[in-house]
Amino acid sequence: MLPSFEALQLSPALQSVVHELGYTQPTPIQLEAIPALLAGRDLIAQSQTGSGKTAAFALPILQGIDLERRELQALVICPTRELSAQVSREVRKLGRTHSGLQVVELVGGQPARPQRDSLERGAQIAIGTPGRILDLLERSFMNPDAIKTVVLDEADRMLDMGFGDDVHEIMSYLQDERQTALFSATYPDRIEAMSREIQRDVLRIEITSSEDDLADIQQLKLCFGYEDKILALCWALQSHPHESALVFCNQKATVREITKALRDGDISADRFDGDLEQFDRNQVLARFRNHSVRVLIATDVAGRGLDVEGLDLVINYDLPEQPEIYVHRIGRTGRAGATGVAISMIESANDRSMQDIEEFTGRTIEVLDHSESKNSELDQLLQQLAKAPKMETILILGGRKDKIRKGDILGALTGDAGGLSSQEIGKIEVQDKLSYVAVSHDVITDAVSRLNAGRIKGKRFRVRHVGS
Ligand code: ADP
Ligand code: MG
Repeated sequence: MLPSFEALQLSPALQSVVHELGYTQPTPIQLEAIPALLAGRDLIAQSQTGSGKTAAFALPILQGIDLERRELQALVICPTRELSAQVSREVRKLGRTHSGLQVVELVGGQPARPQRDSLERGAQIAIGTPGRILDLLERSFMNPDAIKTVVLDEADRMLDMGFGDDVHEIMSYLQDERQTALFSATYPDRIEAMSREIQRDVLRIEITSSEDDLADIQQLKLCFGYEDKILALCWALQSHPHESALVFCNQKATVREITKALRDGDISADRFDGDLEQFDRNQVLARFRNHSVRVLIATDVAGRGLDVEGLDLVINYDLPEQPEIYVHRIGRTGRAGATGVAISMIESANDRSMQDIEEFTGRTIEVLDHSESKNSELDQLLQQLAKAPKMETILILGGRKDKIRKGDILGALTGDAGGLSSQEIGKIEVQDKLSYVAVSHDVITDAVSRLNAGRIKGKRFRVRHVGS
């Protein structure tokens, strides 16, 4: 019999939400982690990127929240702001039928005041990064007494990024009776060491990343030898038609170099690295998700927690040092049933890191035949690749805090006032204070002027077209 959400003892409300979201059956990690968390166990849960770990902890947390009580009951600690935003989105999505639920995001780079206010008003779930959480605890703006569940998401990354001490410090504020869960894509010894200090009677759940998990991904390697590496990147891009491609580099400098080369060749490309300001990171991601930019070039640190759906191509411009990271990177494509392609660029056929990867994933990666594009010059290739993105993005300086919902924006664009057809409108993303709307290229000017002239929820908001 196929596993089902019904068998997991989730409340009827949560069961109907997962069905509405089209989750027909729990993923392996959800199947094991949800009952254990509902039973109150501490656990270490490990499974590869894209395997549904967020819902694996979000659903039990939501089920355990007492909505009558306006106090903090669950805390999720994430290594990056992006991940924190992504987890918050998922928790809000899964908790949408829980009226009275308040989720607060506690991250740096933003004023603490609204976060303090939300805590004050009795948010039940907090999701954030270690620095800000610790800061709020130290200054007594956060009352930890009623927190009964703590989750460390991407615990491996948290340790890699040097947050170990902050995490211990945070734990020292929490009651000993709490439930503590560590979620991670890899399981280094350091996690074991951390677990001994912050957990009790731990249940270990390990979903091994086998060949099977990568079954939906076509893995290829491209040997570029003495050729110019950027030219070879263009071969890789050319080899598979794509709406959204993600290119991983090991260094920020390489990210900049490639982004510039592609943009100079009129390719729709953007960089995503740790040097970007929070606002820009957010905007770049929103534009990539809504198909206003076709190629995103990222480092691992920045690209971690990148929540993008429908990614058709991942390219490893540089191979990562550890095979586990290779699996994370390419796990972003082919998720939730869709197939994807992952191409790794190597200088020679006996590249050492590639051999490690093949050993780790238990398969020989096929060689990409690029003979067709091999004879083209860089300029020629860039010309063939230069294709305008499907969408353009409009930024609205208003969001959830202004009580704006997707439907309000859609209404302002399509109703009698708007006049656009819904086919011309793509993804609408409403964030706390901002919203991003994708509209098709042909109607962008019209859409901006209509939004500027009109009202959303009876109010005027500043609106602008955000290009790259
Ligand atoms: P991880 O944290 O393990 O990397 P995520 O929690 O980000 O994975 O989930 C990856 C994607 O899979 C998300 O888009 C999520 O909405 C989707 N997803 C989660 N659970 C299910 C499910 N049971 N069925 C289908 N899709 C799911
Ligand atoms: Mg995750």
